[in-house]
Amino acid sequence: MEKYDIIIVGAGPGGLTAGIYAGRQGTRNLILDKGFAGGLGREVPEMENYPGFDNISGMELIDKMKSQAIKNCELHENENVLEIIKTDDEYRFTIKTDKNSYLSKTIILATGSSHRQLNAKGEEEFKGKGVSYCATCDGFFFQGRDIIMVGGGNSALQEALYLDNLGANVTLVHRRDEFRAQKHLQNQIKEEGINVIYNAVVEEIKGDMLVESVVLKDTQTGVLTDLPINGIFISIGYIPHTELAKQLGVNLDESDHIIIDKEQKTNIDYVYAIGDVCVGLKQWVVACGEGAVAATSAYHDLKNS
Ligand code: NAP
Repeated sequence: MEKYDIIIVGAGPGGLTAGIYAGRQGTRNLILDKGFAGGLGREVPEMENYPGFDNISGMELIDKMKSQAIKNCELHENENVLEIIKTDDEYRFTIKTDKNSYLSKTIILATGSSHRQLNAKGEEEFKGKGVSYCATCDGFFFQGRDIIMVGGGNSALQEALYLDNLGANVTLVHRRDEFRAQKHLQNQIKEEGINVIYNAVVEEIKGDMLVESVVLKDTQTGVLTDLPINGIFISIGYIPHTELAKQLGVNLDESDHIIIDKEQKTNIDYVYAIGDVCVGLKQWVVACGEGAVAATSAYHDLKNS
């Protein structure tokens, strides 16, 4: 089995940054990702708060990070980690993937998260037929068409602006009467004249071959309304990927996020965690900072072990 000092699970912004830092320490390192580097980060249409860039898409920034990471660290894309087993050997962890097995002295969990689903009637049936969780991937198909964007956070507002800019007729649907998104994004929604339906939830998604309408329920009055649409984009937050953390006995908080200290250490020795799978602010710049801290912590712990 190949042996490593640090294995990083997940090649999002945090995992790639950890790889860059790990490589420059002179340790032997590997990043594993079940898909392509970037994960959900590739879907971000544009960012205006990543330092150094006035405006950059998730895809473009990930491509830059990836090319920097692979100069410093081995990266295996499309290799899914199925199991991590803790042992009492010098190489404390056996990592089993769908392609291979590896030994490592330390583990950095950068496993990220996936889209939360509405669990509305018809959502599953019309996935890819008018139901989407990715404006960047599918927005193009809805130019000149009527769509709703469900959600009231930064992602929903940012993606509504992106879809509006592409030429879709967007209506934002939010379950409360105020958004949780940053004021800056709320102002842009007003400036662009994007229609908003407050206090409404999606009860059902209907259609024949493709989505044709949604049934909205007014949360104040309970009144149901049938709204004709061609597409529904859902952006209502994320579910952290904590299966591997649970296997290792890592402590999670009540919302299922990994609890870490200031050095990105979990409660299990030589296991660190970074990015959206952890408690804390979900921002690229934070995930990158955490990646740098985790790789440095692992390095110091290896030196002192
Ligand atoms: P989020 O902040 O968790 O917001 C989720 C939104 O979906 C909330 O408005 C929530 O409503 C709504 N929601 C949740 N479950 C729902 C359901 N079952 N039915 C209807 N609505 C539901 O998620 P996010 O916007 O994806 O953002 C995730 C994280 O990434 C956040 O920390 C965010 O700050 C960060 N982010 C930052 C930026 C940026 O800095 N520009 C951009 C994107 C994301 P309530 O408000 O009523 O709870």
